[in-house]
Amino acid sequence: MSTKYVYFFGDGKGEGNGKMKAELGGKGANLAEMTNIGLPVPAGFTLTTEVCTWYYANNKQFPPELKTQVEEAIKKTERSMGAEFGSKTNPLLVSCRSGARESMPGMMDTVLNIGLNDDTVQALAKQSGNERFAWDSYRRFVQMYGDVVLDLKPRNKTERDPFEVALEHKKEKAGVELDNQLSVKDLKELVQEFKALIKDRTGKDFPTDPMQQVWGAIGAVFGSWGNDRAVVYRRTYGIPHEWGTAANVQAMVFGNLGDDCATGVGLTRDCAIGTPGFCGDYLINAQGEDVVAGIRTPKRIEETLSKDMQVAYDQLNDIGKKLEKHFKEVQDIEFTIQRGKVWMLQTRNAKRTGFAAVRIAVDLLKEGLIDEKEALQKRRIPADDLNQLLQPIFDPAAKKVADKEGRLLAKGINAGPGAASGKIVFFADDAEKMHAADPKTDLILVRRETSPEDLRGMKAAKGILTAFGGASSHAALVSRQMGKACIVGCSALNIDYDAGTLTVGSKVLKAGDFLSMDGFTGEVFQGKVTTKPSEVIQVLINKTLKPAESETFQRFDTLMKIADKHRKLRVRTNADLPNQADEAIAFGAEGIGLCRTEHMFFDHLEEIRRMIVADNVERREAALAQLLPFQRADFAGLFKSMNGKPVTIRLIDPPLHEFLSDAHVESDPKLADKLAKWSGKSVDEVKKRVEELHEFNPMLGHRGCRLGIVYPEITRMQARAIFEAAVQVKKEGVNVFPEVMIPLAGFATEFKNQEKLIRDTAEKVFAETGTKVDYMVGTMIEVPRAAVRADQIAESAEFFSFGTNDLTQTTLGMSRDDYGPFIGFYRENDIIGSDPFQMIDQDGVGDLMRIGVERGRSKRPKLKIGICGEHGGDPSSVMFCHRIGLDYVSCSPFRVPIARLAAAQAAVEG
Ligand code: ADP
Ligand code: MG
Ligand code: MG
Repeated sequence: MSTKYVYFFGDGKGEGNGKMKAELGGKGANLAEMTNIGLPVPAGFTLTTEVCTWYYANNKQFPPELKTQVEEAIKKTERSMGAEFGSKTNPLLVSCRSGARESMPGMMDTVLNIGLNDDTVQALAKQSGNERFAWDSYRRFVQMYGDVVLDLKPRNKTERDPFEVALEHKKEKAGVELDNQLSVKDLKELVQEFKALIKDRTGKDFPTDPMQQVWGAIGAVFGSWGNDRAVVYRRTYGIPHEWGTAANVQAMVFGNLGDDCATGVGLTRDCAIGTPGFCGDYLINAQGEDVVAGIRTPKRIEETLSKDMQVAYDQLNDIGKKLEKHFKEVQDIEFTIQRGKVWMLQTRNAKRTGFAAVRIAVDLLKEGLIDEKEALQKRRIPADDLNQLLQPIFDPAAKKVADKEGRLLAKGINAGPGAASGKIVFFADDAEKMHAADPKTDLILVRRETSPEDLRGMKAAKGILTAFGGASSHAALVSRQMGKACIVGCSALNIDYDAGTLTVGSKVLKAGDFLSMDGFTGEVFQGKVTTKPSEVIQVLINKTLKPAESETFQRFDTLMKIADKHRKLRVRTNADLPNQADEAIAFGAEGIGLCRTEHMFFDHLEEIRRMIVADNVERREAALAQLLPFQRADFAGLFKSMNGKPVTIRLIDPPLHEFLSDAHVESDPKLADKLAKWSGKSVDEVKKRVEELHEFNPMLGHRGCRLGIVYPEITRMQARAIFEAAVQVKKEGVNVFPEVMIPLAGFATEFKNQEKLIRDTAEKVFAETGTKVDYMVGTMIEVPRAAVRADQIAESAEFFSFGTNDLTQTTLGMSRDDYGPFIGFYRENDIIGSDPFQMIDQDGVGDLMRIGVERGRSKRPKLKIGICGEHGGDPSSVMFCHRIGLDYVSCSPFRVPIARLAAAQAAVEG
């Protein structure tokens, strides 16, 4: 039997279904599913992603069996729709649409009205009794086919789409404003002009044979999987290049037959801030792409559709409810109203902002559509998106002032929440370049509308502002997904790309001028507007807002409580100071996973330098004794903040030349003399000592426990500070639980050496003070040897903490300080999928971690294991840590909520 490459849907039954996204793509699978649940879907068929894979593996040819399968499916479609492809009396028209496993909005191509030529257009006119409609469809077809299949594109970034320019000229000549006001004669001329333009610029004749047209379109759709913007998109969102796209060929329904027709896109609830209720955009007497591309600003479904077309409005709302109930998720739909009847053309789970995601999950849970575990699913709320609830908003007072000063420029549609101030940039590639040159400059990308070509520039911008388009336009959709502030359809803006200006009334702003935008309200301001913390931060950290006063906070809190109920991993924080620890606790941290002690030394450089230049133990100990009280006070503060929660304190880690180097001596003329005085040596001698501290590769030099081994008095002092602080705090009636952590050990002997010093010191302090505290001694696992010989180390170590920053550096042999120049190239060229310093390299570093866990626990089954590298706050890395059986992750305070959610997601989804 030959492979089945084509799946038909129509007459109330699909050969495929919603589960077959891998084979049929998201669009195809859901077209079949909607057909199966009885929704009105025009008949058609899906060519599987396997065809795409075959196409790319075989020099852009199709599998030989495909031809008959497509021909048969066209026959079925003809029968179902009661029309015939290419017929000169009763022609069937089809669309050919891309559709990958995961939606890639606007990244790939679609062609509408396939099957039209000089003969069929006459038949269509006669049959519909609407000559204008037939020629409007024809000119659209030639335009789209010319662009997508015959590849007639603008020649440079300032040139506008040549078809659009021709259309504009035609409208001007005819003295009309909108495309639906053009006469039949105008449209006929346009078809001829478009064809001539194609012939002139590409040398190609426009194909008249409908079968040839359909195969051309299928080829272009599969070809669009490989276009630059689709490739960039996949890289950004981690979609594998091997998946391929499906192609859907589907009978056309028409939104451009008259004023009882429309095309539209909708959401079963708002996806910018999450408010319940069907909403969306529609355009009367228009065809699909018009509303998606933002060529005209459409009308709002929730505002006017019930007045324009009551029956269709009710039908849409019913469909919306049915879809949410069936998919248990907010849907993003595309539809066409043909002579008052709704036809469904697409449905998919809607992209939403983190803001909306939290509200929608909590609301769906309350409405009983989903349970707690479903509410936590990572596809509903990517943990990183919680960030958006912590981002600053505009300070209402500052906004009022800006308004009073007359700086409110315009109001558009609020499409992506958040406040953004930045410099105006008009072109995506300029934004990309400016961002690369200085990632700290905040940019606002200002466009008439955005298109998929602008993706990279949108990534580089803080906010996106467009003059055209509605809440479902490309700009809105993509910014929502990226979590950027976005305002669309801001029609007061007059943008002149050639002049590089933005004009509103009498005000003219240039590229580089400052602009501020409030994505919650749609307001655009000239100049800067100051921001203030988000409501969640106001409640939790600043305590300037009561929980009861903030619905946003309450939803956040509900979600966090559910997350805590389901997660297995504990979440700690990396904090060196009591105020950081307090913030982290407010965010839900359950302990400190990493307290770095070196900042304490940086605050007391003089004492540490005295220690470094000292040439005997007595002098070193004397210098260290001066540091002791500072360290003790710092630790006592932390212990009090943490109130009995575990606190992991890492002993000194950086090489000594970070505290004293040639550069320090050169930049401070008095330093050499001071050093000489402290050490009782000559200036030349101390300079020589400082020179000796220089290392060729400090990352692999005299640092970590290697310091404490050579200079045991440092370890003794630090241990004393820890235990004296612990005893002192315990005596004040506060519980303490210190975990002393030894950095960079690779040999069990290194660990044991340091452990002995620590335990001896503890015993001394306990004896001196007459008070004991419980504590543990453990180690950081940050060199490959430590992971591999975890069994030996675990014989003495009571806990492990993976220091994945160093473990990544040492495993990959790639320095975090030196990988910048090539990592971008590696990512662009798919040498590696993601930045290993942001996301754990699971195959390499991750495998070492797995080995470390297994071997460590083989000697000490209850060994407590955590992670304290940057990766501890990265959702995919948190999930990995769950899978390999860690006890906790530790991350910076502001990432604690993200880690809590990611940990819950790992527990419910594996
Ligand atoms: P994209 O993936 O970029 O959204 P689609 O394949 O969904 O592209 O097509 C875009 C729009 O074209 C649809 O939203 C719809 O309005 C219109 N369209 C596609 N196929 C048909 C069809 N068979 N009949 C009517 N309109 C269609
Ligand atoms: Mg679509
Ligand atoms: Mg380290």
